[in-house]
Amino acid sequence: MELIPLHLGFSHFKTPAVATQAMQAALDEGVAYYGPHEGTPTLRNAIARRYFEDEGIPLPAEQVLVTHGTKHALYLYFRSLLKPNDEVIALAPYWFAFPELVQEVGVTLIAVPANPEKNYQLPLENLKKAITPNTRLLILTNPGNPTGKVYSLPELEAVAQLLETHPNLHVLSDEIYDGLVYDKPMHSFLRFEHLRERIAVVNGFSKSFAMAGWRVGYLIAPMPIITKATALQQKLISGVSPLNQAGATAVLQQRHQIWEGFRDELLAKRIKTANVLRQLPNMQFYLPDAGYYFTLDVSGYLKPKQENSPYILVEEWAAALKEQVGLEVLPGTDMGMPTAVRMSFGLPDDLLDSALQHLKAFLS
Ligand code: PMP
Repeated sequence: MELIPLHLGFSHFKTPAVATQAMQAALDEGVAYYGPHEGTPTLRNAIARRYFEDEGIPLPAEQVLVTHGTKHALYLYFRSLLKPNDEVIALAPYWFAFPELVQEVGVTLIAVPANPEKNYQLPLENLKKAITPNTRLLILTNPGNPTGKVYSLPELEAVAQLLETHPNLHVLSDEIYDGLVYDKPMHSFLRFEHLRERIAVVNGFSKSFAMAGWRVGYLIAPMPIITKATALQQKLISGVSPLNQAGATAVLQQRHQIWEGFRDELLAKRIKTANVLRQLPNMQFYLPDAGYYFTLDVSGYLKPKQENSPYILVEEWAAALKEQVGLEVLPGTDMGMPTAVRMSFGLPDDLLDSALQHLKAFLS
């Protein structure tokens, strides 16, 4: 039986040709030396410029650190900001790597759940209750992984307001899916300029540019954090390959065209997938505003909701889905959603069509 990988965190898209051409041109020019620890000036300037051009947000290029993927940006940031026993809050569901990464610096993640029945609206009141004098950081993922939720401007303003009332608090916004937003405006958290000494954004090229293997990401943060994170990056890896940065610069310059192409294709897949999911009687899901995941609440197929179900745990349900019809999905327990799974629709149409047929068959 063929396995269909709906659990993956990257899409089927090929890296845009402009990236590979730019890397080849850099190779031909003999760019095979160490670059600056903080990233090439060309890429850092291109990153700063994109925020100004797209959202009118001024950003000095020296506040941009180019990192070995976004995960590394997160690690460098956590190491530069946090001390053991600081409190860090993330809204659940969250990307599974956040608890793992903060654990590396001796911190346990506190989850504040967002309610799927309220479309994962920012749970402001519960968030306020969870913040203590020791809360150092609130992590937002916008657009969300796994939910695909994009926060509205009033939701983001409410978070900015929390910074005003809690002077010890910082906000990190992970915006790695920001090129793949369908029908809502996307606002970077960088827009709150007056609070920028406590705001950081991470982003990268793995998702919106289909360049996961290139390992290029970036951290935008206040200067004291950038200085620490750069020193740490220098100690650990010297810097990111300038060849890969040449490719990243090229796609940024063509971003709108690239994103439009990806979005058009993903939107058709989103519609097709949602149409099938709506036919499944006990399936609850959120129509993602961005990215290529559906979060499926499968509690309607588990005990106790479904009395005669053979499954109690979402892991058991997911294992049966794989064993019986070959569909691999990601159980949500490590993402703060113990009765849900993450299912990607970022795969070629023939595979997606076949996956949807199998899903229907498994549940009928
Ligand atoms: N943040 C989020 C929300 C992600 O989903 C991912 C990738 N799964 C990353 C960061 C890490 O991306 P990168 O490949 O650039 O390390």
